Amino acid sequence: MKHKKLVITGLILVMLLCSLTGILSILKFKDIPIKDENTTNITISDKTTKTQTTEISKENLNKLSDKQIEEYYEKGRKRFFVAYITSSDEEDFKKSVEKIVRLLVAYSEYQIDKYENLFYGTSGEDRMDFAIYIYEDFSKLQQISGQHKRYISCNASEFTYHMNCYFDLSIDISEDDIAITATHETTHLLQYSYSKNSTAGLPKWYREGQAEHYQSDPKYLFYKYQDIYNSYSYPKSIKDLENMFRSKTYEDLIFAYIVSEEFYSYLANIDERELVTLIESDYQTFPEKFKEIFNTSPESAYEDFLKEKS
Ligand SMILES: [Zn+2]
Repeated sequence: MKHKKLVITGLILVMLLCSLTGILSILKFKDIPIKDENTTNITISDKTTKTQTTEISKENLNKLSDKQIEEYYEKGRKRFFVAYITSSDEEDFKKSVEKIVRLLVAYSEYQIDKYENLFYGTSGEDRMDFAIYIYEDFSKLQQISGQHKRYISCNASEFTYHMNCYFDLSIDISEDDIAITATHETTHLLQYSYSKNSTAGLPKWYREGQAEHYQSDPKYLFYKYQDIYNSYSYPKSIKDLENMFRSKTYEDLIFAYIVSEEFYSYLANIDERELVTLIESDYQTFPEKFKEIFNTSPESAYEDFLKEKS
């Protein structure tokens, strides 16, 4: 791509500090505080209201056709407020990211269209106006990304309902990568919209397993990181799985996401609708609500899952 040094980075807002939330599906970096004092030129495009939903479909998304992208983009731009934050020429910047933003908005809208009904009926505030912040700041991206090379990264903030996106445009970003990221993060936005309480205290395996499960390809990490998958054994308990999310090791994190998706998928086969309603609970009521649904504790359900795996 042309703009070798062009990077769009994600948002900061003070609120972001509170966001323990969803991080992207491609290369995940948890809870990286982002400080950016020199941003200028915030452009705000159109805002939005709730739109129609369609039937829940369980088939995986492969790719949207050009026509679908166009349609979802047109719908999505009314819902997703997009802001560009750049210190270079704003029009140039917008132009350079135009295609990515279109796909990002289109796949995000697609995700809402596809899954809103599944989340609907849980007792959240039904908030459906979202924002996407697109940042350009290559040096800061390098600072926060350290040794890890990120080429696309978005996170969703529970407290601001923003999706904060970084792209390193010096590397080719495929449509699939954008689709995975947009659909994963939009699932987090759905979680926040439809949860009665903050989801911050809910188990990570649940929140991330759910986001992985409903993203455009649930098995994306499994196939992409076969080497990691093969070199790890399953965490022995759900507590160990949960602890893996706190690991600083990149491989641990990848494996935690893969296992969480598998466990979520296992539970969804038993009762998907009820499984989704757990998003309404808080960290105290989660285990008891879980027990009401599955007649067993999360710990024993995980043990059963392991038995099935072996
Ligand atoms: Zn996530």
